[in-house]
Amino acid sequence: MDLYHDIMDVLGNVKDPEIDTVSVLDLGMIEAVNEVDGIVQVNVLPTFMGCPALDILRKNIETSIQDVKGVQKVTVTFLKFPHWTSERITEKGRENLKKFGIAPPPKTLGPEGHWSVNCPYCDSAYTTIENLFGPTACRSILYCKACKNPFEAMKPISTIM
Ligand SMILES: [Zn+2]
Repeated sequence: MDLYHDIMDVLGNVKDPEIDTVSVLDLGMIEAVNEVDGIVQVNVLPTFMGCPALDILRKNIETSIQDVKGVQKVTVTFLKFPHWTSERITEKGRENLKKFGIAPPPKTLGPEGHWSVNCPYCDSAYTTIENLFGPTACRSILYCKACKNPFEAMKPISTIM
């Protein structure tokens, strides 16, 4: 089981290519890791199928795990099911998103899917969505009326939506 723990340690250092403060583990993207005689199979849930960084992510995961002593072969598979949801992000992941200036996705949604987040800088709830379409389809640009900073928010993704 040591090898498994080494692999999980390494995954804790593999970052989302677009958000380099948060590991794939803390984003809740790792659905399963199976290791038999040094042959490693990693099942990954893409956070958003539309995001372009999957090839980079696959390479990052493969090369990181390949470096673990005792690993012979690594295969990364992206799963379409189960769907990744923003509830999978760990508490540590949510904190690290804030360090990157991204408000973590809200845990609950209001009526009609309305959602709001607190400013990652000053924690004010007095924020407004400036532009629903951020730099990637996964993120939105918001504006904090309290500290006057623009910031990004991760859209809430839930299987219920
Ligand atoms: Zn603020």
